[in-house]
Amino acid sequence: MVVEWSARRCLLCRREFAGRTFLCQECSDRYREGPVPASVRQQFYEALDREYPARSNTYGSYNEPAGLLRAIDQLPRNARILELGSGGGHLGMTLASMGFTQITLSDFTTTTLTAIRERAPRIEVVSADASSLPFEAGSFEVVITTDVIEHLPDVDKHLSEVSRALVSDGLYLVKTPNRLMADAYYKLRDMHDSYFWHPSMFSPGELRGTFHEHGFETRMIAARRLTGAQIAKLPGPAVLRRVAGRLPLGWVPVALQPHLEVVAKKSPPNTQY
Ligand SMILES: [Zn+2]
Repeated sequence: MVVEWSARRCLLCRREFAGRTFLCQECSDRYREGPVPASVRQQFYEALDREYPARSNTYGSYNEPAGLLRAIDQLPRNARILELGSGGGHLGMTLASMGFTQITLSDFTTTTLTAIRERAPRIEVVSADASSLPFEAGSFEVVITTDVIEHLPDVDKHLSEVSRALVSDGLYLVKTPNRLMADAYYKLRDMHDSYFWHPSMFSPGELRGTFHEHGFETRMIAARRLTGAQIAKLPGPAVLRRVAGRLPLGWVPVALQPHLEVVAKKSPPNTQY
C-alpha cells in the first residue's frame, strides 16, 4: 500500500500536499485518537482504489501468500473456503486453479466487489464486513485473509466472528505485516497516517497471544522470499530490488520477518494443537 514520495491529494479531503502518506496532516490528526467511523474507512478505501490502482490489491496481485498456499495445498479440494477482504479476487482465482471447488469471496467496498465479479464471475461473492459475517455458525472449514487484519479497527470482534463461522476444528490462515518491522519502516519514512490504514498490527508474540484468547492455536510459517509489494517499498536502485527479490528469508528469525504467515487452528479450550 505504500507509494513513492510525490505531490498528491489527500484521500479524504482532496487537498493537495507532497509526501508519502495517503492523508494530509490535518485529516491524519483528526482521527488519531479514534475510532474512525466505518463510512470514513469505506470512503478512504474506495478513494485508494481510484487514486492508486497500480498499488491497490484490487487491481493487481502483489502480495501472494506463498506460505499459506503451501499449507492450503494439503487440504481436500472440497473444503469450504471463505476469503475475507478479497480485494480484486486474485487469491480466489489461484485457489480455483488449484482445484478448490467451494470458494466464497468477500469484501466491503463497491470497487472491490465489482472487480471480483468481473475477474471471477463463477466464484461466489458476498458483501461482508470482516467483523460482522453474514454466515451461519460452522459454515466453513477454512477462512483465509491476506493483508486484512491490520486494517480492522476491532480484531477481537473479527476473531469471534471467524471462530463462529468455522467448523469445530477449522483453520484460519492469516498473512499480516510484522508490527516490529512495519513500525520501524513507517517511522523512518514519516508515514504519520499509518495508524489510520493499519490500526491493528501485531508482533509474532502479540498475534499468538490474541489468537489464543479466541481459542486458536497458531503455527508460524517462515517466509521464503520478499513479496512484490515489499520489494517495491525498498529504497535504492532497481538492481538492488532485483537482488533482494531473490534473497532467501528462511534463515531470518520470525521477529525480523517483514510479514507473518500463520496457520491458526480452532481448538476447544485446554487442548493442544
Ligand atoms: Zn485531508
